[in-house]
Amino acid sequence: MTSAVLDPALSTSAFEPAQRVRAIGVSEILRITDHANALKRAGRPVIVLGAGEPDFDTPEHIRAAAARAMERGDTRYTVLDGSPAMKAAVQLKFRRDNALDFALDEISVGAGAKQVIFNALMASLDPGDEVILPAPYWTSYADIVQICGGVPVSVPCSEANGFRLDAAQLESAITPRTRWLFLNSPSNPSGAAYSAAQLAPLCEVLLRHPSVWVLADDIYEHILYDGLAFATPAAVEPRLRDRTLTVNGVSKAYAMTGWRVGYGAGPRALIAAMAVVQSQSTSCPSSVSQAAAIEALTGPQHVVAERRDDFQARRDFVVAALNRAPGLHCRVPEGAFYTFASCAGVLGRRTRGGALLQTDTDFCNYLLQDFEVAVVPGSVFGLAPYFRISYATSMVQLEEACARIASACEALT
Ligand code: PMP
Repeated sequence: MTSAVLDPALSTSAFEPAQRVRAIGVSEILRITDHANALKRAGRPVIVLGAGEPDFDTPEHIRAAAARAMERGDTRYTVLDGSPAMKAAVQLKFRRDNALDFALDEISVGAGAKQVIFNALMASLDPGDEVILPAPYWTSYADIVQICGGVPVSVPCSEANGFRLDAAQLESAITPRTRWLFLNSPSNPSGAAYSAAQLAPLCEVLLRHPSVWVLADDIYEHILYDGLAFATPAAVEPRLRDRTLTVNGVSKAYAMTGWRVGYGAGPRALIAAMAVVQSQSTSCPSSVSQAAAIEALTGPQHVVAERRDDFQARRDFVVAALNRAPGLHCRVPEGAFYTFASCAGVLGRRTRGGALLQTDTDFCNYLLQDFEVAVVPGSVFGLAPYFRISYATSMVQLEEACARIASACEALT
């Protein structure tokens, strides 16, 4: 073997990312956001509606709990997949909100729901295993599946069916290699949510396929409008409980994206395998963040409903504004803080500069370049031609952004 230090050819060779990284590339959402921010730095008044992040601060009582934890010396490693107190808070949350009962060793806490999902796939996928992703889906699902050696199987869900997967689609997507079905309700990016009645036929299909597991990503549970009742597969169909991982977190409900705490609950054997993965990556979630998350989950809950009402007012405004813009069409989303509007009606038209808009990416580039609004094309989420707006920003910004989008559509010929 040649030493890299002694061999000049090796020591100057360019870095080559590993195959698993090359397969996924850089997140398109990050690329768009970076580009929009670069335009902003160059002095252009760009409005960025890309980020999936609440625009309010972590509530005071939660921050105070973190400060107290630091003061009393909660500054060391905790149990690797969550402190006993944190797991007890998660246990309480599932009982209170979802009528689901989990033992502490059926609960895993990680640095965000994203790490919990990553751990679950790392712990369960063998090369070539398939994961069914109803499209449009959160892009990270497909990327994480690929990093873990699996194959994302995208199933397009039509707007006519509310961007929801139906039983026949699920049945035909299942193969002997299917390991997981991902369900995300309310959804990023469509905002679509499943009621218990809409989940039931999917559960029926799953009961016929005992080797398929379910990952329910419930991170937007509390951002659900019009009085709709939240439903999650493990509660809707208890016979699926022994092959369902129910994932949730504090990022969205309590405006805690930077604290990095998420959790999942499911069968003990899966949770134990996930702990093995976590033990060799981050060792444990941050001790101080866990103290904050305990307060979030067990403290006063009124903030959750207040924020939801704020978001609902913004949703109503954005949906109405988009539906008035010529060529756009937006279904009313049931939850989360995204709209997923069709731009089919503007494709085939030309900008003032003469450019032909052929795809949703063309339309989003046009909005950014000519009207200084950054949104994300539906193709990034596996369904075109659409675009996603994150309305987790102030009404003032949303009014200006929607006025610009309307002008952009009116200017087309
Ligand atoms: N799931 C979905 C659908 C999301 O949109 C996000 C955040 N964008 C996450 C999971 C990850 O959240 P966390 O901050 O808990 O990692």
